[in-house]
Amino acid sequence: MSNQVGGNTSGLAPSEHRKLEKLFNRKLEKDEIVSLDLAREIYAVAQDLKRRVGVLVSREGRIVEVFVGTKTLLYLPDLGRYRLGAGRLRRLRLLFSDLSSSHNEPQIPSDIYADLEKLRLDMVAAIKVEGSRAAMAYAHLIPATPNSEQFVKSETVKDLNRMNFDFSEFMSELEAELARSESRHNVSQSGGALLVGVYEKSFDDPEGSLAELTELARTAGVNILDRMIQRRPPDPKTLLGKGKLQEVVLHCLRLGADLIIFDTELKPSQWRIITNATDLKVIDRSMLILDIFAQRATSSDGRLQVELAQLKYNLPRLVEKDAGLSRLTGGIGGRGPGETKLEVGRRRTRDRIAELENRIDQLGRQRQLKRGRRVESKIPMACIIGYTNVGKSTIFNALTRSSVVAEDKLFATLDPAQRKMLPGPEGYIAGAEVILSDTVGFIRNLPDELKTAFRATLEELRFAALLVHVLDASDVRIRQRKDAVDKVLLEMQLSALPQLIVLNKCDKVPPNEVELLAKEFDALPLSAKQGAGLEKLRKTIRDSAVLHRDEEAIGTAF
Ligand code: GDP
Ligand code: MG
Repeated sequence: MSNQVGGNTSGLAPSEHRKLEKLFNRKLEKDEIVSLDLAREIYAVAQDLKRRVGVLVSREGRIVEVFVGTKTLLYLPDLGRYRLGAGRLRRLRLLFSDLSSSHNEPQIPSDIYADLEKLRLDMVAAIKVEGSRAAMAYAHLIPATPNSEQFVKSETVKDLNRMNFDFSEFMSELEAELARSESRHNVSQSGGALLVGVYEKSFDDPEGSLAELTELARTAGVNILDRMIQRRPPDPKTLLGKGKLQEVVLHCLRLGADLIIFDTELKPSQWRIITNATDLKVIDRSMLILDIFAQRATSSDGRLQVELAQLKYNLPRLVEKDAGLSRLTGGIGGRGPGETKLEVGRRRTRDRIAELENRIDQLGRQRQLKRGRRVESKIPMACIIGYTNVGKSTIFNALTRSSVVAEDKLFATLDPAQRKMLPGPEGYIAGAEVILSDTVGFIRNLPDELKTAFRATLEELRFAALLVHVLDASDVRIRQRKDAVDKVLLEMQLSALPQLIVLNKCDKVPPNEVELLAKEFDALPLSAKQGAGLEKLRKTIRDSAVLHRDEEAIGTAF
């Protein structure tokens, strides 16, 4: 990187040039947006020149560009046109002076807001210094929600000295959140999908396998347009064979589908060939599951783990031609001399993977702390588990609704998927509070690469006083699915935790059948949708969670 001052440099005296160049020597700590010193220096230079001055700072805190504008305008240097992937930001933030005297607080002009969005900068921040006090207005992208078309959020800090903000942590969480919302948008906001199962003739349950893929796709919010089963040995190159692949693509065109989801694990080479042969987005079962995890992972650790799994899964799938590559190359100076785009894509991905692994390590240590606090608070936690789509979230919401209103500081730091269970009609009972935790669904045949990510989303189970294992009474595969969940629990060494089995969706089956199933599984019958059995469930959860909390306390006392 040349330390050359850019922009509107005409008419600058050599001494002014030098002042600008000196800005390159500054370095910021990873956790600060801007230091007081740098803010003052930028502002002082701008005041001398009577022009806007801007700097671009890398995520690592290095000043990578310094440039000058006119009195009112600032033109950013060319940052290249690489597209960035879902959730990925430019890893550069823009800091600039605001000299205007028409307002007291610094302001971000609309063209800079546009740059923030277009270039996907980490952040833009206007700086204004008066006397010994430096003020700042900063803005960053935010994930879009279904109800809000707003993509940018801004804040004003009146006194930089009083700012308490961890920039680097904020950025990783923001990127994870953006990735989550954007990948959700990718899959669920597609025009629609064709599901394709390719099975050997010897495979005995193609219908069941495709039915499960359908359920997963629904869980991910995909609009399913059609499904297709092919019984043939998978073609090593194109999975389907060239002719059949053509047919499938045509079928998608007619349906208006822009997404194909294969039930089969696609080898990187197959994925590449199929992707390049069509304009459609192609994903396989693992990618679909990762997308669901991405939507559901609520803890910072879970989100990082999911992103890590996604990157690892995508690494061998990076291809020169496909947009998948340009998605991963970003930023100025991203490419070293002589590197091909593909190498850059891989290097960036590897860098990000290393960064994520680091971050996950750190979080692991913080979690210990958080856990300590929770044990101290003595409020037991009950985790709702079960196969995907059995009604876990519905039950969670029914038992905790509006409990967030009770602004309790201790719980303010908890994930949104963890809330205090509401008291029942008998009202609040001292010492009988329970935290409920909603979890991501379990899935059969989870690919190995996804297991860590999946477990991270289940990390909380380790601290549970009680597992509430939900079954879907109307599911013909109820036994297989219960077994699948039990198997994961066994693998995670959680089988010994106390379990309460709940038979949900009883409104969908005849009463005599409910009775048989409840007996068979020693389960509490329930219809979360109609509210039948909820009070009993609430009471049972409370009593056994409190009981097991006390057991644990006894256990540790001896
Ligand atoms: P999760 O994947 O286990 O969290 O399941 P959800 O809570 O998202 O529910 C999956 C689907 O089952 C949703 O369409 C719910 O409306 C539905 N559902 C949940 N509980 C019941 C119930 O008691 N009866 C019926 N008929 N449907 C239910
Ligand atoms: Mg759920």
